[in-house]
Amino acid sequence: MFQQALKSTLPILQSMTKNLRGTPKATKESLERLKASLPPSFEKTPPTAGKIIQPAQASPPVASGQDDGRLERLEELKKQILSCTLCPHLVKSRTQVVYGVGNPFAELLFVGEAPGEEEDLKGEPFIGKAGQLLTKIIGAMEYTREDIFIANVLKCRPDMPEGESGNRKPKPAEMATCLPWLTKQIDLIKPKVIVALGLTAVEGLLGEPRTMRDVRGQWLDYHGVPLMPTYHPAYLLRNQTLAEKRKVWEDMLLVLEKLGRPISAKQRGYFLEKA
Ligand code: URA
Repeated sequence: MFQQALKSTLPILQSMTKNLRGTPKATKESLERLKASLPPSFEKTPPTAGKIIQPAQASPPVASGQDDGRLERLEELKKQILSCTLCPHLVKSRTQVVYGVGNPFAELLFVGEAPGEEEDLKGEPFIGKAGQLLTKIIGAMEYTREDIFIANVLKCRPDMPEGESGNRKPKPAEMATCLPWLTKQIDLIKPKVIVALGLTAVEGLLGEPRTMRDVRGQWLDYHGVPLMPTYHPAYLLRNQTLAEKRKVWEDMLLVLEKLGRPISAKQRGYFLEKA
């Protein structure tokens, strides 16, 4: 039986090796030619490369939309943002500008404060520990990172004093300088809801300090777009009580309701004390 199977597969194997022998080897020149023929956006490894892309969801197609010319305009805006030199001290210290990531047709935009060390190195917002928690929150909302858009008020990592590690909060003046870039992204992406992650993001967006007690869970307005302030995921990492997680989750339930997304009984019950 084995011999019979071998006999029938042998010709196939022979023809495969023959085909392989006929395949020209990639030379340095042919690779250069291939690189030159690719569109500019393929030249750099995309920030999501190597990540497991989640399978498409059965839920409504929030990850696509009619191109109203925004793709080209966003591409142009991206070029401008990536080469911004408005803050010379940050130009000196940054590895790269962190433009943002996600769906150009996103109905939901998350806004953080500024890239940290990991984001500065990778060029993608919210990929460190706080980012991983944000990704979980997004998943609990039945979205993926590819469905929504994530950006920061400040697009460069705030510089640190010589010899100091860690991250610092962006200064009001830095955020004010950078905010027009985010406003342009919002004008083009046209999200239906913005979530501000933490008070610094709220202050950066609104241009004035607020208190979490006053704004968390309350609908504010950013240029006509409903804005929901909630805790920064880094805060949740420091305060891992059910009560604090539930507060953020209640804010996300308000967001889902505003977007008209279906909410299951299971979702409604996340982070509630067990009776
Ligand atoms: N914290 C932020 O506010 N933004 C990031 O991109 C990462 C951490």
